[in-house]
Amino acid sequence: MMRQLLLEGPAKLRWNEVDEPELDDPAAAIVRPLAVTTCDIDVAVLRGAYPLAGPYPFGHEAVARVVQAGSSVTAVAPGDLVVVPFQISCGACSPCRTGRTGNCASHPRMSTYGLGTMGGLQWGGLLADLALVPHADAMLVPLPAGIDPAAAAGASDNITDGWRAVGPPLAETPGADVLVVGGDHGSNSIGLYAAGIAVALGAGRVVYADDDAGRLAIAARLGAEPVEGPPPAKLGSFPVTVDASGSEQGVRCALNSTAFDGVCTGTSVFLTDPALPLFAMYSRCCTFRIGRAHVRPAIPQVLDLIAGPFDPALVTSAVVAWEDAIDALSEPPMKLVITRAEDGADQLAAS
Ligand SMILES: [Zn+2]
Ligand SMILES: [Zn+2]
Repeated sequence: MMRQLLLEGPAKLRWNEVDEPELDDPAAAIVRPLAVTTCDIDVAVLRGAYPLAGPYPFGHEAVARVVQAGSSVTAVAPGDLVVVPFQISCGACSPCRTGRTGNCASHPRMSTYGLGTMGGLQWGGLLADLALVPHADAMLVPLPAGIDPAAAAGASDNITDGWRAVGPPLAETPGADVLVVGGDHGSNSIGLYAAGIAVALGAGRVVYADDDAGRLAIAARLGAEPVEGPPPAKLGSFPVTVDASGSEQGVRCALNSTAFDGVCTGTSVFLTDPALPLFAMYSRCCTFRIGRAHVRPAIPQVLDLIAGPFDPALVTSAVVAWEDAIDALSEPPMKLVITRAEDGADQLAAS
């Protein structure tokens, strides 16, 4: 038996005793999560602001230790530290082969760890002693030596989500100015990661607009230019913009501030459709992209940045011990990391 954290409702969690996963396929691996961090959606669910009904096994961003690998697995071996992408992807179907791993066709769409019925309950959560990775070679990404698992846990999802909002457009227009709009109902860590990654990628001006003093201070530490206050109608003209606000005012500000031929990426979930400035976007040939990130192919690039100029730990609100997870999650800060030390038995299993 093993312990798994179960979310029963907003701010309501408990440890559950369940059967350990079994290595049922030569392509699979079993991993032991060592550092797990909350996703922006987790925080909204815990605060009762996002309707994801429990009970479900919780946690979907993690760095883990491989404890067992199937006979056909070659990319990782027992003992390796790995980033576990939150999305289940086979690596072989048509969407996976074209980098759209969030829409893997080998499993029900949106199959993920730790997101309840939305992600398919059979994958479990990563706040657990063990987790089954069905396609180890396609999914797992070895963690480069020297990177702290607690800092990199968000590479499973939110850090990589921030990267996709600025990395590809900055590759098209190197050195371009970037605007990120944040807000209380938004994808807060993702917006900050996007700002920090834009700075690390050598963007021109990186402006971070928000009305929250805490997030503005983090943005400044990441090297962005903080602009305080609720989003105005327009903040200037930026080739690359990001709406991480989750509000109509915020997404309108980001879109109205997108330059001619610019790209705006929406990283937040809207539960009601905002009115968009489509005439202005049409006139300026703006592209607006919104949707789940396809994380797996981008994770190695994100890890390269973490090994270099980008420090995601600047976004982390708190790091707590595994045994304190329930207490810490009952009033979750923006970005909580939960870690555990490995005991002798773990190291034995890993060797
Ligand atoms: Zn997530
Ligand atoms: Zn696939």
